[in-house]
Amino acid sequence: EDSVYISLNELIERTLLLVGPLLLNENIELELSLQESLRVKIQRSSVMQVLSNLLNNAIDALRDAEGERKILVHTYSEGETACVRIGNTGPEIPAELRPTLFDPFVTTKSDGTGLGLAICKQIVERNGGTITFESDPERTTFTVAFDSAAERE
Ligand code: ADP
Ligand code: MG
Repeated sequence: EDSVYISLNELIERTLLLVGPLLLNENIELELSLQESLRVKIQRSSVMQVLSNLLNNAIDALRDAEGERKILVHTYSEGETACVRIGNTGPEIPAELRPTLFDPFVTTKSDGTGLGLAICKQIVERNGGTITFESDPERTTFTVAFDSAAERE
């Protein structure tokens, strides 16, 4: 897939259109905070797949969660870097899982493939970006960051 210049916010909005009905169905609240529209040069469909994988993991994590059921999507810039954070309330990622979380076939789901995060990492890095996560007993957040250097050509 060729890379194109695209607004990260627009890509998120498109992805949410696909995932939105699932959120309603699962009674999950969405907290959306999209800051100034950041443009990045990325593989559009592949990065959409990353965003929907992360959202689907968040939905899975909330499936058996007690208490607050919320997904937070936040975009912001840090200098030349465009960032998107996808977070969810719900259970903490166990410490023993963390070092290998992005490896293939690491899963805690009876019907999981453990491929989602491995594919996410591969796509993000192919697009010159980074993917990281934080998790505590209140929430888990994945952060994807891309270079948003000025448009050329
Ligand atoms: P799969 O979804 O098939 O299990 P993934 O690679 O997408 O594979 O995720 C690997 C594992 O990481 C999951 O099984 C789950 O234990 C953990 N995980 C991923 N995202 C979250 C999240 N948002 N909250 C809690 N745990 C998560
Ligand atoms: Mg997954």
